[in-house]
Amino acid sequence: MASERMAYINGKIVPESQATVSIRDRGFLQGDAVFDTTRTFGGKIFRLDEHLDRFYQSLKYMRIDPGIPKARMAELTMEVLNANLPLLGEKDDFWVSQRVTRGVNVDGVNVPTVIIECAPLPFKARAAYYRDGMPVIVPSVRRTPPEAHSPRAKVHNYVNLIQADLEVKAQNPQGWPILLDMNGNLAEGPGSNIFVVKDGTLITPREQMILSGISRRVAIELAQELGITVQETDIDLFDAYTADEAFVTSTSFCICPVSSFNGSPVGDGGVPGPMTDRLTRAYSGLVSIDVVDQYLSRLDD
Ligand code: PLP
Repeated sequence: MASERMAYINGKIVPESQATVSIRDRGFLQGDAVFDTTRTFGGKIFRLDEHLDRFYQSLKYMRIDPGIPKARMAELTMEVLNANLPLLGEKDDFWVSQRVTRGVNVDGVNVPTVIIECAPLPFKARAAYYRDGMPVIVPSVRRTPPEAHSPRAKVHNYVNLIQADLEVKAQNPQGWPILLDMNGNLAEGPGSNIFVVKDGTLITPREQMILSGISRRVAIELAQELGITVQETDIDLFDAYTADEAFVTSTSFCICPVSSFNGSPVGDGGVPGPMTDRLTRAYSGLVSIDVVDQYLSRLDD
């Protein structure tokens, strides 16, 4: 059995250590690249079509032609995943990503670099968030506004979110950043969307200022199925400090409870709150895995 993960690069599936990009690649030089990431649950891929729809929208926004139609990208993604599944540990799951850079300029023409790869999810490193909740800290750095480049496209350039993370982690190594938009409303964090619960209503920022997370959409769908009122609207710090509950959504976290905003406990401070718990259970039902247990079981590893 192969001991190294396999990755697709420009037409071939090769051992990951051989999947290398040129020092002249625009993705490396300037962050001029697009990606998307789904995950597996028990080795089964989650909502690949939706992720690829978003991926091709990000490519269109960036005016990069991957030279591969969406249906073929889906087939290649499954080939890469299947090549890696024998390496998946019993309690593990993979992030599964497609990446396309503007590539290398050859005789005046950019030849895109296409990569598909799998990486193990960081269950152990993030497990404590499911026991204690996430202490969210709002950094001084604001989320990239649509006037600069649209946060709705999932591009490789994460410097804005990295600066926010550095600022937050310097204050609290466990802290999780949620950035404000330029109007002072909650936007999102690195790889994560934010929700608050107020008087029984679930509230999340509208799509114009954020990446429209697939797990955000799942949380909204599940809430609607459960008869919970959902509002997509501005949330300011007053709303955050007075929320009854809060959680983040992401491909890896699914739904993860927030314990505090800038040190101010959310609700009565207990996590998860009742609505967060209901939605998390519904999420677990949808993916046929107890998503909280998958994290908590790794606490003592
Ligand atoms: N916001 C940003 C900036 C992200 O990069 C991501 C995920 O990668 C998300 C939100 C959450 O999106 P998803 O639920 O599709 O993982």
